[in-house]
Amino acid sequence: MENPFLNAQKQIEKTAKKLNLNKNIVELLKEPMRIIQVRIPIKMDDGTIKTFTGFRVQYNNARGPTKGGIRYHPNENLDTVKALAAWMTWKCSIADIPFGGAKGGIICNPKEMSQNELERLSRGYIKAIAEFIGPDKDIPAPDVYTNPQTMAWMLDEYEKITRKNSPAVITGKPLEIGGSKGRTKATGFGVAITIREAAKKVGLNLNGAKVAIQGFGNVGMYAAIALEQMGAKVIALSDSKGGIYNPDGISVEKAIKHKQENGSLKGLEGTKEISNSELLELECDILIPAALENQITKENANKIKAKIIAEAANGPTTPEADEILYKNGKFLIPDILCNAGGVIVSYFEWVQNRTGEYWSEEEVDKKLDEKLTRAFSKMVEVAEKEKVDNRTAAYMIAIKKVVNAMKLKGWI
Ligand code: GLU
Repeated sequence: MENPFLNAQKQIEKTAKKLNLNKNIVELLKEPMRIIQVRIPIKMDDGTIKTFTGFRVQYNNARGPTKGGIRYHPNENLDTVKALAAWMTWKCSIADIPFGGAKGGIICNPKEMSQNELERLSRGYIKAIAEFIGPDKDIPAPDVYTNPQTMAWMLDEYEKITRKNSPAVITGKPLEIGGSKGRTKATGFGVAITIREAAKKVGLNLNGAKVAIQGFGNVGMYAAIALEQMGAKVIALSDSKGGIYNPDGISVEKAIKHKQENGSLKGLEGTKEISNSELLELECDILIPAALENQITKENANKIKAKIIAEAANGPTTPEADEILYKNGKFLIPDILCNAGGVIVSYFEWVQNRTGEYWSEEEVDKKLDEKLTRAFSKMVEVAEKEKVDNRTAAYMIAIKKVVNAMKLKGWI
């Protein structure tokens, strides 16, 4: 299994060469500024005690308080969280929002836990890291297998500890307690916005364009909805249990309903079963990895037929695969731009919490579209000028801004 953090470091080195950064700066960029590891004892419903391990990595805060989601996953590990925290740093930078990057994770299997156990775990995690987070320090959000309810428990625990109302400490909250309109769909809708721009760039008509999506969580689902609205045809979908395929198109609404009723996509009427890896190699125009890291590797990169690859997941492509895709003329929308919609609207949520003024959904959507479109055209401009792949261009823009902030603050 590839180590995502080694990949994250390779990407930094590749960019540093292009930017001519000196070796001391690269050393600083290659490791997180702070790593927090905690043990969280939880009373399970059957009366036994189970102790969970949690992480919070604060990668770099030169541009602002650190920002990033919290994942609940049985295979979580520190190296993955470190990589994800680095990616958040570059993501906030390219998205042009005033945050550094962070990420959190707990090793647990949320599918085997009750709501009460999950609530105790979420509260226990915040109790363990409370002193290191805050609206001006580090601001968590949802990620893999966490959701607005998780954020609500975490906020409440933080407010209990600090004894004040503090909605801006966490984003992705339910609307009733300070969440932003448009936040839940933001990552998926943002993915669709970047695809719309990419389609314009490569001359692909979105109307009738064939889309395959790996992963049908919050991100994959909202990307599917948005792309269908734009006229594209979703021909394949998958979740952790496997995939479904119909070359003539799958109704997204029916797929959502089927998944809600049956717990998986499998068995949706009119579709054929395919595996997650077959899905990646399908004949289609747009491929959206929207699950976990390391899905497109040197083993399957050559078999990818889609013209546009939109990285809705964080870190789905390894550096070796990157080079193959670039050589094959694929148009890749790198994760730090492709899925930045979530953290952009998290920023809007934070601004609304701090000003106490709340925006309409139209306003949020419009501001999100503007920010993503601007970042996209900047990336394309640099890629063309420097003759580099899109990821390297995005990294060049992002890392340069972080380095400038560190210089101005006198760190380097
Ligand atoms: N977890 C999301 C991401 O990877 C959102 C993070 C946030 O909103 O802070 O970008």
